[in-house]
Amino acid sequence: MRIVLLGAPGSGKGTQAKLLVKEFGIPHISTGDLLRSAMEKKTKLGLQVKSVMEKGDLVSDDIVLAMLQERMKEEDAKKGFILDGFPRNLSQVNMLEKVLHDLSMPLNHALLIEVNPDEVVQRIAKRAQLEGRSDDTEEVVRNRLEVYDQQTAPVADYFDKKGVLSRLVGSGSIDSVYQRILAVLRF
Ligand code: AMP
Repeated sequence: MRIVLLGAPGSGKGTQAKLLVKEFGIPHISTGDLLRSAMEKKTKLGLQVKSVMEKGDLVSDDIVLAMLQERMKEEDAKKGFILDGFPRNLSQVNMLEKVLHDLSMPLNHALLIEVNPDEVVQRIAKRAQLEGRSDDTEEVVRNRLEVYDQQTAPVADYFDKKGVLSRLVGSGSIDSVYQRILAVLRF
């Protein structure tokens, strides 16, 4: 099963992805996690993307695509994957379509987790306290939400037109959102 998880920062994509990993035994591929790990390890790529990420802007498409292609070649991704944080704009949509086409691995589902903006801001404020992510400060979160509205929201529209998008209410408990996701996947 190949799934793309879409939703604003703080919509709960990462949390839900972890539950789906357990259920379906497929890997969670998060471009944000891959980039953060490169930053922590201070690799050349990590140092290159640090300032962009700390502002909440998007890292260049080429860098993210190269990183993603490497990850997708790993053995565990052959069974499928849950993609989180990619595609982030329409040009990344085209890149993903090409990669999946070349690998003969069509997408099964795009799930959009919808949460209202006030709730998103509250959730991220909580996460900033717990995890100390350097891009979870109020100013950066505001920018990330703006980037989402301008660049990532059209990605959902694209999958909608393609007929693979399901919209899910992302408010309520983690488990209630998860049950909504399972209901869509089992349909
Ligand atoms: P996330 O963990 O998905 O919220 O991503 C954290 C940050 O990593 C984003 O604010 C971007 O700076 C960067 N990032 C993650 N995924 C992408 C992507 N697909 N394209 C460009 N930048 C990305």
